[in-house]
Amino acid sequence: MFRAVSLVPLGNVRQDVIDAVAGGIYEHLELEVYFEPPAPLPEKFFDPMRGQFKADDLITYFQQNVETRARLKLGITAVDLYAWDLNFVFGISILKQGTSIVSYRRLDNTFYHLPPNDRLLYERVTKEALHELGHAIGLDHCEAPCVMHYSNSVLEVDAKPVKFCPNCWRRLNLLLGRQGA
Ligand SMILES: [Zn+2]
Ligand SMILES: [Zn+2]
Repeated sequence: MFRAVSLVPLGNVRQDVIDAVAGGIYEHLELEVYFEPPAPLPEKFFDPMRGQFKADDLITYFQQNVETRARLKLGITAVDLYAWDLNFVFGISILKQGTSIVSYRRLDNTFYHLPPNDRLLYERVTKEALHELGHAIGLDHCEAPCVMHYSNSVLEVDAKPVKFCPNCWRRLNLLLGRQGA
């Protein structure tokens, strides 16, 4: 069972972003958060032609090689990620295995040459972190207004709520072995 989440900065990560994600996990997942020391991003997962890291390889490495206090762990990174045949991903998870990574590179307005907006960045990264942790715990995508709704653009991220819908929340509590859900 998962009782807490370990947050691991992968590479150079803004502390205010980590704090925002920690607050969101505490509030919306009701799990304790452990702040872990940063882990380096191995160069071998970087594709210089694309300027991106390969998320599917990175998460396998993260699962197997980065020790954390909690079994449920979330890597947070500022670098851009791609996976499989996708041009980019906001995040990636190993379903039910308790391992997730979220990238805020494309959740930041500055990526789209728009003025920076920290409040919006915190909200987006919190949503995508909760979404990936939902997968890591065992939730699938959801069609309801729900943080588990699939998002392929920041507009879709902005359109969905930060909360789990009642169905996903019930399932999540069952998966976490929590009573009274
Ligand atoms: Zn998803
Ligand atoms: Zn849902």
